[in-house]
Order: sequence, then C-alpha cells, then structure tokens
Amino acid sequence: NLPLAEVDPEVAEAINKEQHRQQNTLEMIASENFVPRAVLESQGSVLTNKYAEGYPGRRYYGGCEYVDIVETLAIERAKQVFGAEHANVQPHSGAQANTAVMQALLQPGDTLMGLSLAHGGHLTHGMKLNVSGKLYNIVAYGVDEETGRVDMEEVRKLAQEHKPKVIIAGWSAYTRQLDFAAFREVADEVGAYLWVDMAHFAGLVAAGLHPNPVPHADVVSSTVHKTIGGPRSGFILCKEELKKKIDSAVFPGQQGGPLMHVIAAKATAFKIAGSEEFKDRQKRTLEGAQIIAERLTQKDVAEAGVKLISGGTEVHLVLVDLVNSELNGKEAEDLLHEAGITVNRNAVPNDPRPPMVTSGLRIGTPALATRGFDAEAFTEVADIIAETLKPGVDVASQRKRVTALCEKFPLYSGIEEW
Ligand code: PLP
Repeated sequence: NLPLAEVDPEVAEAINKEQHRQQNTLEMIASENFVPRAVLESQGSVLTNKYAEGYPGRRYYGGCEYVDIVETLAIERAKQVFGAEHANVQPHSGAQANTAVMQALLQPGDTLMGLSLAHGGHLTHGMKLNVSGKLYNIVAYGVDEETGRVDMEEVRKLAQEHKPKVIIAGWSAYTRQLDFAAFREVADEVGAYLWVDMAHFAGLVAAGLHPNPVPHADVVSSTVHKTIGGPRSGFILCKEELKKKIDSAVFPGQQGGPLMHVIAAKATAFKIAGSEEFKDRQKRTLEGAQIIAERLTQKDVAEAGVKLISGGTEVHLVLVDLVNSELNGKEAEDLLHEAGITVNRNAVPNDPRPPMVTSGLRIGTPALATRGFDAEAFTEVADIIAETLKPGVDVASQRKRVTALCEKFPLYSGIEEW
C-alpha cells in the first residue's frame, strides 16, 4: 500500500501539474466544473473494487449489500431533485446514457430528429460518425440564422414531413431555454417520443432556475459533471412505464458492471444539489453569464467585429461569433489561453471557417461560480475577455489580472498534492 507518488511518480507528477493548472488558470469551458472534496472522496473510494451487475436487490454478484445502499440513495435523490418517476444512475457517461435511450426507444433504421451538431447539438444526436448517425435515419433541425434560436415552426414542419419516432430537445452549445411544452405538442402531433438531453443545463434545473423538462418528456438524459458539478458520468430519468425498457437498455444492453465508486459520487452530488449553497452557486453561474454577455455586447467589442449568437444568454454560457472579427476561433482561444483563461473554440451556425479553426467561442461560467466568483469577480473576468478579443491586446497584463483572481478565489486549497 505505497502511495501513488512512490508507485508511479510519472502519473503523480502529471496529476499535480493538472491540479496546479486548475488552480492557476480560469476554467471557462462551459461543460466543465470542479467537484467538491466530498465527491472526490466518494469517487476515490474502495467501491471501485466491487462488481455489481444488475440493479439494487437484483444483482448477479454476492456482497452487494453496501453498494445497494449507495445506488438506492443515488436513485432516490435523482428522482427527488428532478421530480422524476424513475432514475437509472448507471450510465458511465452522457454518451452512454444517450446510446441506451436510443436502444430503448428505437430500432435500427427508425427516424430520430435532433438539433444538428453544426448548430449546437451533441454528436450523440445523430452525427454521421457516431453510433446514432450510423444506426438511425437522422433528421436534423437547426437554429434560425438571424435569431440564433430554434424555430418551433421549423421543428413542427420537419416532424410532420419525416414522422420521427423520437424527437430530441437538448444541446451542447445554445444560449436560450428550449420550449419543452412546444416540443411535447409537436411530438404528440406526430406520435413521437420526446427525449430531452439536459446534460448542460441540469444544474440550473435542479436549482429551479431553468424550466424542468421532466414533466414534458418521456425520457430525460443528462451528465452529472457539467452544471451539476458531480463526477464525470451520466444518468437517465423516465416515466414509470418506460422504466423496464430503459433499465434493460443500460444493463445488459450497453454496459456490464456499474462503476459503483462513481455512483457513490453521484449520490453525493445529488445530495449537494438539494442544498441552498448549490442554489446560490447556480444563481451566480447565471449572473456571471449575463455579466459576460453584457460586456461582450458593448461598443468597443462590437467595433472589433465581435457579436454574440442570439444576442445574449439565458443559461450558463455565451457563444461568441467572430465571423466579422480579425481573430478566428482558434486564435481567440489561443490568446485567452495565453491570458490564463481556458475556453473552447466552437463553430457558429453556417461557419465560413473550417472545423479545426472555426469562427466562434463557447464561454461558460459554472466552474468559476463553483470557485466562488461573485458579480464583481465576473465583471473583472468579462472585462479581461473583452480586452483580449480587441486588436492590439497586451496579453501579459491580462494574465496578471487573471493571476490576481486565481489568488483571490483559491481552489482545492485543503487538498494536498500526491
Ligand atoms: N449530451 C450533451 C448535450 C452533451 O453536451 C454531452 C457532452 O458534451 C454529452 C451528452 C456527452 O457526455 P459525455 O462526454 O459524458 O459522454
């Protein structure tokens, strides 16, 4: 039982360096967050040793009495937080949750309709190289070029034309709240299942700061590691009548043994999601995104050719449109990286630049809100981003401002190096 640093110094060193990177830069990748110490502890526990194929009370292995407690807690808390009839907490990831949903609701060759990847959808919603795009007949809707929003009339028209068996409402890069009631109406008109993928905005839903898709959808899938701020993993919520189909699509349909240490960490994350502190964090997440949107729509930034898709935001991220800027997505991402801010470049709808370059940025606030950022700190970050995107930026002086913020909001200060 030697410590990691002795058994494997190379891995220990890389982990330490990654911890430093997280502590000394500002993480603004919209899909990332920092888990609390309690989640790190659950996930780093001896539960990693346990095989538990099956479900609580119905396992294919002995010795499951304690992992049954853990999984039952995770299921009950997930149901409680989102008001769902049934929860499956076993998917190893968001992608695996989604593949299980498709396996439960569709046969190969059936029609699946979702937001196109190029307009903010996720690759599991029908991209041609993903299993979704290979097994199913994909119909993609987009966002309106002017408004940057999903147009429900287009969704209705496509649904009536193609009669999909499943309609997906959900996204990875979108700045507005989807109208779940309108999606339900369209799904009912064509006899389709409605599946909401709330991977990105689940934390906002849990805090009551975003409409809850659960009452409208047949199935809701999600990750736990984005706005929720739990372990990297997925889960599925559904109506009672789909419980058997969903459970058997996850196991044995897609997976073998569940990752019980990760399920323990999910249980802990769902417990935290019921707290006032969690709600406050989600409020600051939204407030931070609003502050950034306001700063990036001011005149000095607009004059540098920078715009926001949809003109603002109702969620935890903004989408920067650089089509008219001297900077492309890659250059802007690199400049912000140099300033100590991590974001990802992102194609804008109908992007004129190639996918490895792009003309956009996706900037999110969940991780900084977890770090404790308030309106004042988000105002400073917004200004650093604005200055960095303007021509002739002095990146070194922006880096100093970032370092000051990192020092003011320490991360994992009680957590020792390996
Ligand atoms: N669904 C959506 C909407 C996502 O944005 C993502 C992740 O980016 C996923 C699913 C997949 O999650 P994972 O990366 O855990 O497979």
